[in-house]
Amino acid sequence: MTKEYDVIIIGAGPGGMTAALYASRANLKVLMLDRGAYGGQMNNTAAVENYPGFKSILGPDLAEEMYQSATQFGAEYAYGTVTAVKLAGTDRIVVTDDGEYHAKAVIVATGSENRKLGVPGEEKYSGRGVSYCAVCDGAFFRDRNVTVIGGGDSAVEEAIYLTQMVKHVNVVHRRDQLRAQKVAQERAFKNEKIDFTWHSNVIAINGDEQKVTSVTVKNNQTGAEEEVPTAGVFIYVGNVPMTVPFKALGITDEHGWMVTDNRMRTKVPGIFAIGDVRQHQLQQITTAVGDGGIAGQEVFSYLQELN
Ligand code: NAP
Repeated sequence: MTKEYDVIIIGAGPGGMTAALYASRANLKVLMLDRGAYGGQMNNTAAVENYPGFKSILGPDLAEEMYQSATQFGAEYAYGTVTAVKLAGTDRIVVTDDGEYHAKAVIVATGSENRKLGVPGEEKYSGRGVSYCAVCDGAFFRDRNVTVIGGGDSAVEEAIYLTQMVKHVNVVHRRDQLRAQKVAQERAFKNEKIDFTWHSNVIAINGDEQKVTSVTVKNNQTGAEEEVPTAGVFIYVGNVPMTVPFKALGITDEHGWMVTDNRMRTKVPGIFAIGDVRQHQLQQITTAVGDGGIAGQEVFSYLQELN
């Protein structure tokens, strides 16, 4: 039996859950599909301090609060890995590894994932010292020395988080200025467990075949290379959009980010995109939530016009 909805939201992070709340409150039949647990990247975040209404809240707790809101007017949630979206007249068919769903509109809220550094040893030692999630893996490095790579919000915030359990954090950054928000920078500079290696790149992650033992750090001004012992390497060098299933629709830019207007509409009628997956600068829980509210409302208008 075909499963039919007014709107299917692909991705149940903060954007997707907000869109579900708005669309279901407008009496639409809504399904959120996600290949993992609802909450998205919030589940990998320790303290969230820039979501209004909460001075500080754990990412997974905020995810739970949002899920309770999102489903209170009947929005459904299901597991499913989406492999494609097909167009059939005004129908939008969402293909998953477990069958097809039909809807009149689709909201893409799949977010982004960590960019790989692309150096020798990264893949080999992934899960054996190389990590992209301090909240998930930090506890494995209790009282050890670890390396964080990057200079954005993620690198700096996760470095601070790691100091709760590790002995020392060395942040390796390719410039001598951080991109992270000032409040996080100041906190990191004050933290005695954190130091910074500026103008430097990690060019190799080394190990003893079982686990990471060191990184090779190259100063990009002097060219000098040094092998620095470390038990863990946390990589935060930005992110890439999760848009492979939507490539055929021609609604992404040359880097794969979704292109929309300010009503969250892509150039394909009935397909919207919100949150981190969208081509824009600021990637925040608050901006994803804002996008979700707009898309939830816009879907309602789109369906009214269709009928
Ligand atoms: P990001 O802001 O894109 O920062 C990536 C960092 O990695 C930059 O410092 C960049 O250096 C460096 N980098 C990029 N490619 C590299 C390479 N090949 N080798 C070495 N270094 C490299 O990524 P992010 O920190 O993951 O954050 C992503 C988005 O989420 C941002 O919009 C961020 O504001 C947001 N975010 C917000 C919060 C919060 O508000 N609490 C928390 C986490 C993330 P350069 O600086 O030289 O370019």
